[in-house]
Amino acid sequence: MRLILFGAPGVGKGTQAKILASRLNIPHISTGDILREAVKAKTPLGIKAYEIMSRGELVPDDIMIGIINETLNQARCKNGFILDGFPRTLPQAKELEKLLMELKLEHVFYVNLTANGDEIIRRLTNRRACKVCQNIFTLSEIEGKNSCPICNSTDSFYQREDDKEDVIRNRLEVFSTTTQPVLDYYDRRGILVTVDGLGAIDDVTTSILTSIEAKLE
Ligand code: AMP
Repeated sequence: MRLILFGAPGVGKGTQAKILASRLNIPHISTGDILREAVKAKTPLGIKAYEIMSRGELVPDDIMIGIINETLNQARCKNGFILDGFPRTLPQAKELEKLLMELKLEHVFYVNLTANGDEIIRRLTNRRACKVCQNIFTLSEIEGKNSCPICNSTDSFYQREDDKEDVIRNRLEVFSTTTQPVLDYYDRRGILVTVDGLGAIDDVTTSILTSIEAKLE
């Protein structure tokens, strides 16, 4: 199965992608994570992406298309994958379509997680990442803790540059001007499934799986 997961920043797309990848036993491909790893390793890509990401803007299409082309050609993606964060622009969507055709990949599901802007701002300003493993936590999950619940590192938590309120507003703006047309494009073709992303984590996972099953019938 190939699942292309959409959603405004902060809707819980990354959390759902991780859960679904583990349930369906397919790799989770997050373009945001790939870029953050490059930033951490200070590779030429990371150095270029850092400033762009800190402003909440989008990394150029040619770079992102190159990353996805290379990743989807890897053997680990042969039997399926969950794409989290790509495509975010119409040129990326067109390139993805070409790539799926070239690789003769079928059973592709397009799912959009929705949430309102105020809730997104509340969620994102309340989250922190572990400096070592980069896993994300809410403030209440790590209150009073001085080590990471996942990797046990005591190197502490930080707020991602792109989770600061002015940057979030910019990311939401970028989403509605640049990514919404991608969703409209899939919706016009009748292949987009929309799921409310605001419920409890387990309920959202169940809704996603139920809507995919409905598409399979
Ligand atoms: P995410 O973790 O998916 O919210 O991505 C974090 C940041 O990485 C975004 O705000 C963009 O700056 C960059 N990014 C991730 N995926 C893409 C993409 N498909 N196209 C352009 N920029 C991207």
